[in-house]
Amino acid sequence: MTGSLPVTISDIEAAARRISGRILRTPFVNSASLSKLCGVPVGLKLEHHQTTGAFKLRGATNAVLMLTPEERARGVVAASTGNHGRALAHAAKAEGSVATICMSRLVPQNKIDEIRNLGAHVRIVGKSQDEAQQDVDRLVREDGLVMVPPFDHPAVTAGQGTLGLEILEDMPEVATVLVPVSGGGLAAGVAAAIKARKPQTRIIGITMERGAAMKASLDAGAPVMVEECPSLADSLGGGIGLDNQVTFAICRDLLDDIILLNEDEIAAGMRHAYAEEREIIEGAGAVGIAALLAGKVKKIDGSVAIILSGRNVDMAVHRRVINGQNDPWTEAAPWPG
Ligand SMILES: *Cc1c(COP(=O)(O)O)cnc(C)c1O
Repeated sequence: MTGSLPVTISDIEAAARRISGRILRTPFVNSASLSKLCGVPVGLKLEHHQTTGAFKLRGATNAVLMLTPEERARGVVAASTGNHGRALAHAAKAEGSVATICMSRLVPQNKIDEIRNLGAHVRIVGKSQDEAQQDVDRLVREDGLVMVPPFDHPAVTAGQGTLGLEILEDMPEVATVLVPVSGGGLAAGVAAAIKARKPQTRIIGITMERGAAMKASLDAGAPVMVEECPSLADSLGGGIGLDNQVTFAICRDLLDDIILLNEDEIAAGMRHAYAEEREIIEGAGAVGIAALLAGKVKKIDGSVAIILSGRNVDMAVHRRVINGQNDPWTEAAPWPG
């Protein structure tokens, strides 16, 4: 399917110019261990080193910079499982605005604290992202705040797409890109950038079995709701929005495949990142490595790029995973020490 998609390569190139100097251009490094495992060069885009610890600063910064001064003065608002909230809080403050972030009770405490520390107003509402979103809608309606959603927005998706441009600069021969997927802003942006420049590149989305909203929606041919469950990859939680305008169509048209992982596989990815690459990454950031380790990426016939999307994991959870416990959410007692 071709036709015009809601985000184009020129939107992404414009985003790259706009956010340049305001976000980090993160390193891209070779993984000796994964290259050996796969028999092809495997590179890691270390986007978890991004300011605020995840790629979401790219989209949030692009979106805030595209607001009028009058909109910026009213303030921005979003529902977020954490990383978008941190990103929007940071971006708003950097550009002289204020962010209000609405979250469900499933969001880990460390993420809530960090968003407060970035100067945002935090509101904890309901037990799902959908309930948090209803609060956002009310603040837009009644208080005139400007919504900057976590993924389903052209400026946000274009901002995430700047990662795709950087991967092509650092690994021009890339044949396969492994990208985490939740709402699909990252995957859609990266796919839109890379497919425009190098259409034969495979873009494979990776997500968790527990509540794979984009996968279920692509299978159904339209956005569907899925039940939210706790996962090590908590940043991949939440739906894609039944009224999805941007990311569903792009993922449908441009993603070559979506791979699903269980909790043990995600934990193995986090352990590999720590032990072999010496990187602390959150579950969502580990899914690309995890998919390779699980042998779920088929037909590898050229260089592979993996996006490590974030590092904002509760360190007690990370410690338990490193120590071999794959599902710390079901454990009532904290890890000793
Ligand atoms: C948000 C997020 C994702 C998923 O991004 P989408 O644009 O929602 O698909 C992946 N990894 C991390 C660390 C995230 O914060």
